[in-house]
Amino acid sequence: MLDEIISLSKQLIKIPSISPLDLGCQKIISKRLKNIGFFIENIKINQTNNLWACKGSGKTLTFVGHTDVVPPGNLKEWENDPFKPIIKDNFLFGRGVSDMKGSLSAMIIATEYFIKKYPFHSGRISFLITSDEESLACDGTKEIIKILRNRRENIEYCLVGEPTSENFLGDTIKNGRRGSLSAQLEIYGIQGHIAYPHLADNPINNSINFIKDLIFLKLDRGNQFFQPSSLQIFYIKSGKRNISNIIPNSIKIGFNIRYNTEVTEKEIKKKIGQLLLKNQSKYKINWIVSGNPFITYSGTLLEVVKSSIYKVQKLHANLSTSGGTSDGRFFSCMNSEIIELGLINKTIHKINECSQINDLYKLCKIYINILKKLFI
Ligand SMILES: [Zn+2]
Repeated sequence: MLDEIISLSKQLIKIPSISPLDLGCQKIISKRLKNIGFFIENIKINQTNNLWACKGSGKTLTFVGHTDVVPPGNLKEWENDPFKPIIKDNFLFGRGVSDMKGSLSAMIIATEYFIKKYPFHSGRISFLITSDEESLACDGTKEIIKILRNRRENIEYCLVGEPTSENFLGDTIKNGRRGSLSAQLEIYGIQGHIAYPHLADNPINNSINFIKDLIFLKLDRGNQFFQPSSLQIFYIKSGKRNISNIIPNSIKIGFNIRYNTEVTEKEIKKKIGQLLLKNQSKYKINWIVSGNPFITYSGTLLEVVKSSIYKVQKLHANLSTSGGTSDGRFFSCMNSEIIELGLINKTIHKINECSQINDLYKLCKIYINILKKLFI
């Protein structure tokens, strides 16, 4: 089994599928799943390739993953070619091995094994794989979920293969993620000569109090599963660096809020609207929502994942909601139980990305146990 996982991982890593390109990875996966009786749909949206594959009927477990990878960075810093996978000291090296071609391979080999061993299992196994997780995430999972919802498909259990482990395989799983909301704000003043400030209205001076209010805005205190929501300014621009005699006519401020389940997008917008009102300036604000927060407090999948990890690794997984967003967020509208479990994340997106060979094998065993506990 380990040989098969390594060989499939290598096959996928060899393809330089830098986001949002797939370049044939999903063809390899589709072929394997078709061979074991899966119904396959390849859905291309703009440059993004998506794969929806399913087999069986009843309650559905969806393995969620992506075939795209982030760029390798400076090639000279890699010890080996990032797209020529190599095994050294029991580690498999290559771009995307941990995030997440290794776990994709483990999912597929686990499913092949399970279906061969238990051809009359209950439930439905499915895969939702995209090639735009690492870039804009606009033509991938989000769009496929829309299609599935229109068809009134149900997904009870969603298992995302993102690299969640920290020091040992399975030590950490994600049972939720924070939401992400960004704002592009422009506050207007009146342009004028810097020596005649009474004839102008300085948007920089006038927005300082607002910026202070923004920084100290307390959105919530967090809860058992989430740290308090946080707001960070990522961009401020106004005026021209070398022009010292003009008061500019506006200031642009960009900020992002990572928020938990204690506040809603609407409440955040309202609170910031009140601060702007207090500032008494003219402004324009554009909001961009990258994803709402989600949490799986309890449920069948959470228990099954925890006990499957324990069976293979003899450790109790920590629950975490830290880190950025993932494609798991798109399943919350389907009321799915969403859990993320994958390889160790220490080298993801870095030079010399790697994964322990043994972890690939053990992850496959955990996935097999999850299938057994759900469908046997
Ligand atoms: Zn990933």
